[in-house]
Amino acid sequence: MRFEPAYVRLHRSGELTKRSQEARRLLASCRLCPRRCGIDRLAGATGYCRGGAAAAVASHNAHHGEEPPISGSRGSGTIFFSGCNLRCAYCQNWPISQQGQGREVSGDELAGMMLDLQRRGCHNINLVTPSHVVPQVLAALDRAAAGGLRIPLVYNSSGYDSPDALRLLDGVVDIYLPDIRYRDRAAAARYSDAPDYPEVNAAALREMWRQAGRLEVDADGVARRGMIVRHLVLPGGLSQTRAALQFLAREISPAVHLSLMAQYFPAHRATEIAELARQLDAGEYQQALEWLEEFGLEHGWHQELDGSGGGPRDRIVAG
Ligand code: SF4
Repeated sequence: MRFEPAYVRLHRSGELTKRSQEARRLLASCRLCPRRCGIDRLAGATGYCRGGAAAAVASHNAHHGEEPPISGSRGSGTIFFSGCNLRCAYCQNWPISQQGQGREVSGDELAGMMLDLQRRGCHNINLVTPSHVVPQVLAALDRAAAGGLRIPLVYNSSGYDSPDALRLLDGVVDIYLPDIRYRDRAAAARYSDAPDYPEVNAAALREMWRQAGRLEVDADGVARRGMIVRHLVLPGGLSQTRAALQFLAREISPAVHLSLMAQYFPAHRATEIAELARQLDAGEYQQALEWLEEFGLEHGWHQELDGSGGGPRDRIVAG
């Protein structure tokens, strides 16, 4: 039987329309994400994330550098949203996430981008940094489904997502691709301006796992459903990697797929923060790989460090 993404059924029943209307109401006194700014985005105000009534998009394209089940052979259909509800000091996309690069798009335009990516053969729609634009995504998805969108939806977030937003996404998102950035409040406050990140993220990961569960792939190894968690190892233990892996193994599941990333480099304000102003060394990443074994996390991918000392290669290899 031909695969059909979860959101198509909700579109047919009218539930997706209801969800998008309910989500839009959250913008009137915005409490869409854990920041709970309380401003009226529908009236033109913008909050911490810089988001207003419309979503802003920096680019949409086929992307081949994601984890193998996400990129597949034809690429992942990424839509990069402008703005973000975190302000990571080391953000590699800071002109888009923190400085507003991109342009506002209507619901029809956003739906058109989704359909364009499907026409170009992409395996999925990969929403990059979507936490502050969930209502706009739901409305566009409803229109795109009416126009024939039938590829899985990937929710690629920092993992700083509210229970309200995740409830609206239940049965809509096929594949969750969240980060686990920190397990320590002080680090989350200092490097991402979000002291409550550890508890918000823990609750979000539990809910995403409940909704989507273990990664399922098709006969070609391309993801259809499930969850992949990303953890970027920061230098000097600043991302609490051991605690993050322990949390995943013990409180999510040892069966979870994990992408353990070594590609950190000092970008944006990180060059001015002494402890963030260097790349990882091989010993630090090797230690992280040993923790994977310690906690029995056998599923997923890691990256290779460049032995020449030139830093990590951005290449994902099997775990
Ligand atoms: S989505 Fe943006 S405006 Fe709304 S609560 Fe979060 S940061 Fe504030």
